[in-house]
Amino acid sequence: MSADHIATGDVERFFDGARTILGEDRVFATEIDRKAYSDQMAFDMSAHQPAGAVAARSVEDVQRLLKAAGEAKVSLWPISRGKNFGYGGTAPVQAGAVILDLSQMNRIVEINEDLGYCVVEPGVGFYDLFDELERRGHPLWMSVPGNAWGSVAGNALERGVGPQSYGDHAAQICGMEVVLADGTVLRTGAGAMKDNPAWHTTRNSYGPGWDQVFCQSNYGVVTRLGLWLMPPPPATMSLSLQMPDPDDIEKGIAMFQPLRLRGLIDHDAAWVSYVGIASYVGTRSSFWKGDGLLPEEEGAKIRQQLGLGWWNAEVNLYGPEEVIAAKARMVSAAAREAGIAAAGDWRVWREGQDFALSKSGIPGTAGMSMVDWYGGRGGHIGFSPVMPSDPRLAAEQFRRTRALYEKHGVDYYGAFGVGGRQTVAVNEILYNRDSADHRNRVTALFEELIRETHAAGFGEYRTHIDFMDQVAATFDFNDHAMVRFNNTIKDVLDPAGILAPGKQGIWPARFR
Ligand code: ADP
Repeated sequence: MSADHIATGDVERFFDGARTILGEDRVFATEIDRKAYSDQMAFDMSAHQPAGAVAARSVEDVQRLLKAAGEAKVSLWPISRGKNFGYGGTAPVQAGAVILDLSQMNRIVEINEDLGYCVVEPGVGFYDLFDELERRGHPLWMSVPGNAWGSVAGNALERGVGPQSYGDHAAQICGMEVVLADGTVLRTGAGAMKDNPAWHTTRNSYGPGWDQVFCQSNYGVVTRLGLWLMPPPPATMSLSLQMPDPDDIEKGIAMFQPLRLRGLIDHDAAWVSYVGIASYVGTRSSFWKGDGLLPEEEGAKIRQQLGLGWWNAEVNLYGPEEVIAAKARMVSAAAREAGIAAAGDWRVWREGQDFALSKSGIPGTAGMSMVDWYGGRGGHIGFSPVMPSDPRLAAEQFRRTRALYEKHGVDYYGAFGVGGRQTVAVNEILYNRDSADHRNRVTALFEELIRETHAAGFGEYRTHIDFMDQVAATFDFNDHAMVRFNNTIKDVLDPAGILAPGKQGIWPARFR
């Protein structure tokens, strides 16, 4: 950890000010609090341990806390629900920063059933929104990430993804309220006009569009966010596909890409390697008791036992039954032509049947059991590069990634979410947090993945707080013009340098 990665400022003064603003019960500054707000998946939780946390309940609280932070020169790291596991959880880049916990700002401000959007405060979780939609009879459908205990807003701000049609969560954002470092409350898009009802319905308002500028940045504290939701389809159809060999990934991507581009499949269908699915079912030792890399023949036994391919995908179609039945025929024909086997027939769900089978986004956390793969206190870190949906390039990235996993003795677990133009690989690196050996190998693997992927011409779309500078440095066009640009904007919006220094490799002047 370099010196820049330790926050400075008069934290005690800030906490005293925060107690006056919030009262004693919303200031968390004991040793237990510091541990609770650290990265629970880290090998060394002290590396990014905050000085504590303060919990805002209103925009006014946020404004007053920012003012107090500015006066004490303390770094504030905003979180919505802080479930950004695999990328840092609640923890800040700088050890000693103070977490600005927004989870108590948890009102669902609006659900507009006719125009298909919701407006949420940062603390609204996927479960909260789901419960409210369920209470209303599911007039709109959600997209949820694999582990859905986080917040709707925080996940969208980090560009989280889900396997549903509206699964590019940042792309559904429309209209935000943001508190800038100087306390100014800004409403983006049409919201810049007082009481304009088009705030959450158009992205094409007057002047520059700013919503995406507040995604994965440290330019403001988002206190309200509009998100488009999907109108409920009268039917869905789903089909499971499997491929037996690792190198099949090329034909798997080649099959999905044109169907995605032409809108015949309207979600990012993902090819998931079998270790990922096995890790939801049991620990590695429940399948095989040996040490070292999982041997291919043991992997074959696991696939047989669980009825899996090396790669596994599910295609879901949403819409009126006559429309999706026609699409289903085309998807089946494309699979046949590619020589890709379906595991079973299309499954049809019709309005009125058990909602659990609908293929709507339904929040769950079962997938988090993957962290138990190696036994001990588990953890995971995500390596998430983006490639064009060019089957050859994506397959090369797979082979490169898998070879590095094997070199460092880590079982490969990756998923390729195929879009019409981009493919995102989410590689989960699973480990036992209490193993020094895992720590060394996982760190070395991650650093090499960044380097080798960069050498191949690609970058990550998101990364863990440990690696934010390293990944930012890979965006190197014109002598890192983008890093300089981001820092220039940072200095204008946050001259005191108090908001999330170091996030995404963006540093205010006082820490550069
Ligand atoms: P979730 O609980 O949905 O998984 P987090 O609350 O952990 O999401 O947020 C992930 C990251 O996104 C945070 O570490 C922070 O950098 C950023 N972030 C989250 N919420 C906000 C917000 N309301 N304003 C600004 N940045 C935010």
